[in-house]
Amino acid sequence: MIRVNDNYLKLPGSYLFATIAAKAKAFRQTLAVDDVISLGIGDVTQPLCNASISAMHDAVDELSRAGSFRGYGPEQGYEFLRRAIAEGDYASRGVKVSPDEIFISDGAKSDTGNIVDILGSGRVAVTDPVYPVYVDSNAMAGRAGDYTGTKWSGITYLPCLEENGFVPQLPSEKVDVVYLCFPNNPMGTVLTKDELAKWVEYALRNDVLILYDAAYEAFITNPAVPHSIYEIDGAKKVAIEFRSYSKTAGFTGVRCGYAVLPDELCAEEGGRRVKLNELWKRRQCTKFNGASYISQRGAAAIYSEEGRRQTAQTIGYYMENAAYLKRVLEDMGIKAFGGTDAPYLWVKTPDGITSWDFFDILLTQAHLICTPGAGFGPSGEGFVRFTAFGHRESYHEAADRLGKLII
Ligand SMILES: *Cc1c(COP(=O)(O)O)cnc(C)c1O
Repeated sequence: MIRVNDNYLKLPGSYLFATIAAKAKAFRQTLAVDDVISLGIGDVTQPLCNASISAMHDAVDELSRAGSFRGYGPEQGYEFLRRAIAEGDYASRGVKVSPDEIFISDGAKSDTGNIVDILGSGRVAVTDPVYPVYVDSNAMAGRAGDYTGTKWSGITYLPCLEENGFVPQLPSEKVDVVYLCFPNNPMGTVLTKDELAKWVEYALRNDVLILYDAAYEAFITNPAVPHSIYEIDGAKKVAIEFRSYSKTAGFTGVRCGYAVLPDELCAEEGGRRVKLNELWKRRQCTKFNGASYISQRGAAAIYSEEGRRQTAQTIGYYMENAAYLKRVLEDMGIKAFGGTDAPYLWVKTPDGITSWDFFDILLTQAHLICTPGAGFGPSGEGFVRFTAFGHRESYHEAADRLGKLII
């Protein structure tokens, strides 16, 4: 008899973005002209930078000749990329990370989803609203209890609300693992260095593992906001950091990212000290054969002077979209948070209408797609998310349509 992992059967039916796509599709079919603008799903629109493009062309040429062909790469990723990361992302900010602590991957979604493989039982806390991968991967592993309509019974939700400035408070119950994502998706908000330091102190004091998703680090403009959790003293004892080139450099389709598992990060198991770095190495060697040589060459090129300049320009373009849309919304008297150190706006629905009702109003009246906040967790109710990843013209058009909205 075929048996399945029945934890999958506990997952709520539809994936948020599938529901949005279905609603949008049904609505589009009622239109004579398809003029729907999507500011919903967080995919990038600007092409790869020239530095990455030419590095990837060169890599293909290398693979096309017998003398320079390469097959399976080193399990943790090519040294040229791990060195570029250690220097460009860490040493340049005064943080010491060794190439041995870096694991190249095909993106941060896989890493943040797969990390549960090396963790034992223990209570998980997430900030609420939450990037769905953290919760669903724990549910699939049987670590989330039961789904009760908006929450999982076995997960501790840390509400991020307007009242607390969207800063999660330390858990009041005992937890063992905390997922933090800053700059945050979906809220577009950040933690200052002092706020993040409180989390590191808490984790050191209570033996808590922090899973720190820094996928949007490149969008930070405020100097008081840390780019890496390792900018905080002691963090290497308690935190794994995840990064991705997806949003930084348009790699959503190319695929490349990395995780940092510091040498000093240990767990106690049966009276033995176990290095998480070694477990992850074991896990990756068994189940993963690396990101392609071509993507790793493309990623390494981002650290060249040309690559930095070009990616900064594209990020600047997205952040101008965010600033523009934020101004438009605020001029309408609508509250919009985030959007200064992250490519997302977290927008409060007017008159207390629900996220999905506001989604429907925007879709039917303005032909605009956003993401209902309620889809990211109970504290997302009353908010919608707009992304800054679209084309500039879409934001100008969106502004015109928002101006004609009747709420
Ligand atoms: C987009 C995103 C990622 C990165 O995903 P990739 O798999 O690297 O494309 C990771 N975490 C968050 C919160 C994201 O929004």
